[in-house]
Amino acid sequence: MSVARPLTRAILALGSNLGEREGTLQSAVAELVDCPEVRLLNVSPVITTKPVGGPVGQPDFLNMVIAVDTTLSAMELLVHCQSVEQAHHRTRAVRWGARTLDVDIIVYGSVVSADPVLTLPHPRAAERAFVLYPWSLMDPHAMLAGKPVSELAAAAADMAGISHVQDVPLPQAP
Ligand code: ADP
Ligand code: MG
Repeated sequence: MSVARPLTRAILALGSNLGEREGTLQSAVAELVDCPEVRLLNVSPVITTKPVGGPVGQPDFLNMVIAVDTTLSAMELLVHCQSVEQAHHRTRAVRWGARTLDVDIIVYGSVVSADPVLTLPHPRAAERAFVLYPWSLMDPHAMLAGKPVSELAAAAADMAGISHVQDVPLPQAP
């Protein structure tokens, strides 16, 4: 007899600043939820942001977040996210350099982990407006580490680098 695996709510952050950025985000969302273990719950607007850190002169990023329910373990979800990154030919030559696609796990249920391979919640999420702002637009009541995500976004240093919010046709949450 198989034992049903628990369903966990996770927030994933996607970013792209190389190539056909809109199309990359669209297909990445579709690929992330194209398996029976991951169900799409909600999709944020797409925002345009100035790169944080890394080499100067990089193109702007498009960023967004999605909410999913998953039966994958946290580590299985990370491997799944990395396989979607790889499918978009992401290279890791330069830390924080330009990339076709970055997919990070921001939270996985209420799991807290200091493991460098998978740190939860994501160690830099609480200070990144490019994660917090689209998350607050998707879910105005979202909380991160006991604080409202909208308040964390307003306090984030990179909030000034967000130039606009756009509607990109993405898979609709049911
Ligand atoms: P970043 O997302 O910080 O710009 P990378 O995408 O290159 O950098 O990720 C570097 C490493 O971060 C990955 O190999 C992964 O194992 C690790 N990592 C730790 N915590 C997380 C997390 N919550 N989500 C995604 N990757 C993580
Ligand atoms: Mg990453």
